[in-house]
Amino acid sequence: MALLAESGAFGEKPDCAIFADTGWEPSSVYRTLRWLRRQVSYTIYRVHSGRNLRDDVKAGVNVRGRPWLTIPVYLAERDHKPAGINWRQCTSDYKIAPIRRKIQKLLGLNPRQPMSSGTAVEMWLGITTDEAMRVKPSREWWITNRYPLIYDLPMSRNECLEWFATTFPRRTLTRSACVGCPFRSSSSWLEIRESEPELYQEAVEIDAMLRSGDHNAGRMFRKLAYLHHRRVPLDEAIEDDSQERELNGFINECEGHCGL
Ligand code: SF4
Repeated sequence: MALLAESGAFGEKPDCAIFADTGWEPSSVYRTLRWLRRQVSYTIYRVHSGRNLRDDVKAGVNVRGRPWLTIPVYLAERDHKPAGINWRQCTSDYKIAPIRRKIQKLLGLNPRQPMSSGTAVEMWLGITTDEAMRVKPSREWWITNRYPLIYDLPMSRNECLEWFATTFPRRTLTRSACVGCPFRSSSSWLEIRESEPELYQEAVEIDAMLRSGDHNAGRMFRKLAYLHHRRVPLDEAIEDDSQERELNGFINECEGHCGL
């Protein structure tokens, strides 16, 4: 979407773009961001919450440093019966809030200052036609969400990838998502294992840590927490799945800010 915007595909260009960095992206995403900044004429800001999501997950704390687990881990009873999914706060705390703060700053306001009436910000989100169920109105009255790849120039994720491959034949494109995001599909875990084995190994260790007696997750939930949707240890799940890749690379995310 950023590159299409630069080419004028949506008419006007955005004033800026904002990348919310949780601190836990694969290095290929940071490389892509550096490259993208050289391709577009508008500024791409990189913002963060002031904390690192990976470190907070390891420490079992939230963005305020209080005991909690903010990522949507899959929960199971001790007898391995599925017991739901943890409430996802990571997107709000590590992505949406830093983006809102940046927009307020660009408007000349501090985070506690009320927005004056008449303020209007249009936020473009790169949801594609195959993910149209993620389209939703903004939670803030002063922001209007716009979905250029749904309404202006409807394109599926594959069509975007085809356009990119034709336009930039020597580059690969990585989906932005935290390395340890529980919304990764098996195919996405396999990609991480192949492309960034050290980061994958760290995710395997964090997954095991969540079920160790030392981690806050066990005390808070009194359940077993898993990064993989099948609720088995990550390395076992991925070993089993390595013959059977799923097509979709990101299996859930309703806020529209992750996995783009
Ligand atoms: S990519 Fe996943 S873990 Fe990271 S902020 Fe989004 S939902 Fe949370």
